[in-house]
Amino acid sequence: MELDLGPELRSFRDEIRTFLSEHRIEELAGVGIQAGFAGQSDEDSEARAAAWRAWEDTLAKEHLICPQWPAEVGGRGLSGVEMAILNEEFERENMPRVVRGMGESLVGPSIIVHGSDEQKAYFLPRIVNGTDRYCQGFSEPDHGSDLGGVETRAEVDGDEIVVTGQKVWTSGAHLANTIFVLCRTDPDVPKHRGLSYVLVPMRREDGSSNGIDLQPLRQMSGASGFCQEFIDGARAPLFNVIGGLNNGWRVAMTTLGNERGGSATTQHLRYEKEFWDLVDTARKQAASDDPLVRQDLAWAYTHVELMRYSGLRLLATLAAKREPGPEASVNKLFWSEYHKRFGNVAINLVGAQGMIRPEGAGYRTDRWQQAFLGSRAGTIFSGTSEIQKNIIGERALGLPKEPVVG
Ligand SMILES: Cc1cc2nc3c(=O)[nH]c(=O)nc-3n(C[C@H](O)[C@H](O)[C@H](O)COP(=O)(O)OP(=O)(O)OC[C@H]3O[C@@H](n4cnc5c(N)ncnc54)[C@H](O)[C@@H]3O)c2cc1C
Repeated sequence: MELDLGPELRSFRDEIRTFLSEHRIEELAGVGIQAGFAGQSDEDSEARAAAWRAWEDTLAKEHLICPQWPAEVGGRGLSGVEMAILNEEFERENMPRVVRGMGESLVGPSIIVHGSDEQKAYFLPRIVNGTDRYCQGFSEPDHGSDLGGVETRAEVDGDEIVVTGQKVWTSGAHLANTIFVLCRTDPDVPKHRGLSYVLVPMRREDGSSNGIDLQPLRQMSGASGFCQEFIDGARAPLFNVIGGLNNGWRVAMTTLGNERGGSATTQHLRYEKEFWDLVDTARKQAASDDPLVRQDLAWAYTHVELMRYSGLRLLATLAAKREPGPEASVNKLFWSEYHKRFGNVAINLVGAQGMIRPEGAGYRTDRWQQAFLGSRAGTIFSGTSEIQKNIIGERALGLPKEPVVG
């Protein structure tokens, strides 16, 4: 379904559609709506990496990288509704958007809300042009859900801040050159009030260590998508503290709000495609007439449609220039629980075949095995389902607060 949102937005849609059909690069067709940096994947061939670079240049010239950001920092100032249209058109043309990972989705939006003008002018263009690649240093071995209790500490030393502690489960840390760290800068005040949000370079400018010992964590799949970091005296300019010293909790909440609700207007596109691919698999396996399979598929279809409609509701909120509220947690809970059950449906459907790994090095998984295994993580990262339910209960429904134990 394509929404008619009035003449201005219709002409914006036409403009993007024409641009994409004139500039599309065939080698990149079908690589997905979200993609990373040129040559990021080991499997990127030189030709693919070159195509990426050309696509990046083309989009950069049109200010279509981080296009939701103001023009003065390299974006195009698109509204939430325009962003949703843009994503739909990229999907329609089967071309990838060039996205800047956590820089674009998490740190940038937090700098836009809490940073000074000087910080915006310095950090945002570096995200747009790919100079800075971020990873998220929030979780610690004893502080995941209880994020406010983080123990990594930092002290001011002249015009620098010096960070010491340990972070864990840091996705993509091996690809990043900067980690945004939530750390304790005042241990003597109630826990949420003594935190700061600091952008810490992984290495010093001369390439030497910045006191961060990065250790990859090996997963059951054989891959190492996360790292843990032992941080011993890592230094960053005081300028890199976003939102001011001891104001890090508010900045972190902006980051988490974006993490949980950021893609709500378009995420159904991904799940819709995945759903129809599973329908194809069911047909190939001659299972699509089985009433139990049909019941599962109908359940999945209904849920993808619900995602589409809640995306539209959010679009209406954005079009009315209202800030989204606890929808972020509703969105996170809904898609992650949906996808976990979808993984079960998919692996049941493929049956015994689902127990056999594809040929090749490492612990390879095919797409339905990946959906089954990978979807388990969705109800944990960016705040577990239990935490989302607490937020919805307490902040959206006004239920009594969870009793504090101990
Ligand atoms: C794929 C993946 C990627 C990740 N990437 C990153 C990253 O890039 N950066 C980063 O900082 N972290 C990352 N994490 C870590 C993630 O944020 C934490 O795993 C998550 O916040 C949960 O924390 P924990 O693992 O310490 O579990 P715990 O907080 O110890 O929770 C254990 C269990 O207790 C439940 N529980 C805890 N508190 C409550 C409560 N108050 N009420 C009800 N139940 C509760 C939880 O729901 C959970 O089931 C990632 C995790 C995964 C799985």
